[in-house]
Amino acid sequence: MRIALIAHDGKKADMVELAREFQPFLAGCTLCATGTTGGRLQHEVGLTVECLLSGPLGGDLQIGARLAVGQVDAVIFLRDPMTPQPHEPDINALVRACDVHDIPCATNLASAKLLLAQWSQRG
Ligand code: PGA
Repeated sequence: MRIALIAHDGKKADMVELAREFQPFLAGCTLCATGTTGGRLQHEVGLTVECLLSGPLGGDLQIGARLAVGQVDAVIFLRDPMTPQPHEPDINALVRACDVHDIPCATNLASAKLLLAQWSQRG
């Protein structure tokens, strides 16, 4: 399973907590993430993560490009709905790419937990 992980600043602590909860499963996946999110997952959870560009610098677009060519199986994207983001067009492009290619995309903690729980049970 190839999973891309993104968390806006207001959601990064939630992402770390989520990754700790599902660490055994995630450790067996191929992970990529936007830069800051990936760095925290490496240092605070001990996961091996390919760190792409930071979101505002194009990281969301990199993930979108990868999933458009079949290189990403799922996206965990903990968005912060309460804070305006300078790269809103990139965020919309990534979510649209997920819909175009029918890639599961969890955009909040509750849906991310449901998806990870299901995927981790598949073995
Ligand atoms: P970051 O990017 O992980 O580099 O912070 C995510 C974002 O804020 O879009």
